[in-house]
Amino acid sequence: MPQRNAVIDLLRKAGVECYTRKEWGSKQLAAYIKRRSTHPMPPAPAKYHFLHITVTNDTDTVLTGKAGARQIETFGLSSPPQVSYQDLVTNEGRYFQGQDYGNKGTHTVNDKRVPPFSRDLNQEGYALALMQNVNDAVTDKQVRVVAMVFAARELTGWVRKGAPVYPHRKFAWKGCPGDKAMARLAEIERLKNDFVKKGTIMPTQPTETRGKALDEALKNLRLAKKNAKSAARIAKIQRAIKAILEIKPK
Ligand SMILES: [Zn+2]
Repeated sequence: MPQRNAVIDLLRKAGVECYTRKEWGSKQLAAYIKRRSTHPMPPAPAKYHFLHITVTNDTDTVLTGKAGARQIETFGLSSPPQVSYQDLVTNEGRYFQGQDYGNKGTHTVNDKRVPPFSRDLNQEGYALALMQNVNDAVTDKQVRVVAMVFAARELTGWVRKGAPVYPHRKFAWKGCPGDKAMARLAEIERLKNDFVKKGTIMPTQPTETRGKALDEALKNLRLAKKNAKSAARIAKIQRAIKAILEIKPK
């Protein structure tokens, strides 16, 4: 079995802002450890990635993100309640740790009886939930981090290489993970496969080598994009952001 924290360790190395259960203030720290013996996943790498949405308030700061994770923990179907999903990702690209890898979550049941899938999909895949509501933006940064999480699962051996990404709505009579996420699903899967093919989720232009001036320019552009009123203006700013992100390190 791979290391339980292998995914989060790899994400951190690749520069993703991550918060462990302890860091976001989980009230059930011992329950996740106990679940390792009561609800273990089968030993082989899992077959699927599942994408969900928490349908909770969008969080913009680290503090509200931590509070969001604590709130989602109380909704868990396990007893005592634990986060149903393995991973939570905000649209700022922040990662909050959920249920342990190697533990069964309580996220995906094949209520629609879609063949040839089995009924309890919790033991065949790991779930990531976008921590937000259906009308909140699914951002480029979030798409990238989600793809990095899925790729990290495959690169660390928790999930089979090339495993498909399925939206919850495929199996349940729900809108989950929302139309905005559905619109980015193919892109997420493509990015995930690109990372796995490269064998790494490390950025090609790490922020530390991109330099402070560029980071500052990016920050200002993103602020401008947020405040821009016209679609043409937003598109122009988006192109500028893209150009900066493509600058290669020295
Ligand atoms: Zn769902």
